[in-house]
Amino acid sequence: MEDNIEIVDLRSDTVTKPTPEMRAAMAAAEVGDDVLGEDPTINRLQQLAAEKMGKEAGLFVPSGTMGNLAAILAHCQRGDEAIMGNLGHTFLFEAGGAAALGGVHPNPLQNQPDGSLRLKDIEEAIRTSDSHFPVSRLIILENTHNRCGGVPLTVEYTWQVAKVARENGLRLHLDGARIFNAAAALKVSAGELAEPADSVTFCLSKGLCAPVGSVLCGSFEFIQRAHRMRKQLGGGMRQAGILAAAGIIALEQMVDRLVEDHRRARMLASGLARIPGLRLDTEVPSTNMVFSTLEIEEARSNMAAVIADRLFREYHIKVGVVGAHRFRMVTHYWIDDEAIERTIQAFSRVL
Ligand SMILES: *Cc1c(COP(=O)(O)O)cnc(C)c1O
Repeated sequence: MEDNIEIVDLRSDTVTKPTPEMRAAMAAAEVGDDVLGEDPTINRLQQLAAEKMGKEAGLFVPSGTMGNLAAILAHCQRGDEAIMGNLGHTFLFEAGGAAALGGVHPNPLQNQPDGSLRLKDIEEAIRTSDSHFPVSRLIILENTHNRCGGVPLTVEYTWQVAKVARENGLRLHLDGARIFNAAAALKVSAGELAEPADSVTFCLSKGLCAPVGSVLCGSFEFIQRAHRMRKQLGGGMRQAGILAAAGIIALEQMVDRLVEDHRRARMLASGLARIPGLRLDTEVPSTNMVFSTLEIEEARSNMAAVIADRLFREYHIKVGVVGAHRFRMVTHYWIDDEAIERTIQAFSRVL
């Protein structure tokens, strides 16, 4: 392994470091006490985010997890039920916060390979009024769907779910951690994707490269309630305009370039597809995620981890391991064409 070779980190788009423009904006940010509503940079970010999502108001939160949790707590009472995907981030990766901190009962439905929940499954899951049952209150969709391969949900499908929600008196929350990737892939605006939902969270700190933060958006009245929940969760921050300044750059400069990440994901997939022993979940990834599985006879149970370790030690390439034989690779701002070539070459040598 040569020295001074740059690490290619494909584990996630969360590894993205802030751009030089972000660091400059952070250093120069005007700040104030946001718990008193006096941080002008946070106020600008929240307004900009709300405009992009087509909602009345926005709330800056430290993480997507807190954004989703504050939304669930603002929508639901204790003992209410939230319908969500069994492969969704909220169900799998948020430490059970809705149940642990909100007393909200999750009702996980099977995610289809395209990241959707079947309308029929949702309709059947909605409870009738009966004191034996929890009260069905909320549906959560995820767009793009992380575990299902970074696939986008369409505007039309989101409206169909919203219609089921409205007809039954439920609310719809959209976990739009990567909603701008979905919008780029579908060639629609993020606002169109978010319009059917009562609330939406998106991450500034993934493909958009900001160091910290997500924004939760919804009606004025909803954001007021979520604001109290954020305080309860300990997410009220003070001069966090330093962070919001990077978020503003993320929204202004980093959204239109996501198509480049998608192009590189396709480039990576088509290169890996030619390597014997590696099978791609989808030959043409729809956004910035490439999932592939080892097809090696007598594969050891932790073969993907062994290969990932070699890729790092011998080629300075980090890939995500998401199963005994499965890898996840995510393209982002700091991954250029050369990094993609290096990764394809490294895989072909290691396998
Ligand atoms: C990353 C992510 C989140 C939020 O994660 P944080 O690490 O808490 O910011 C939520 N939903 C999905 C689908 C995600 O990928």
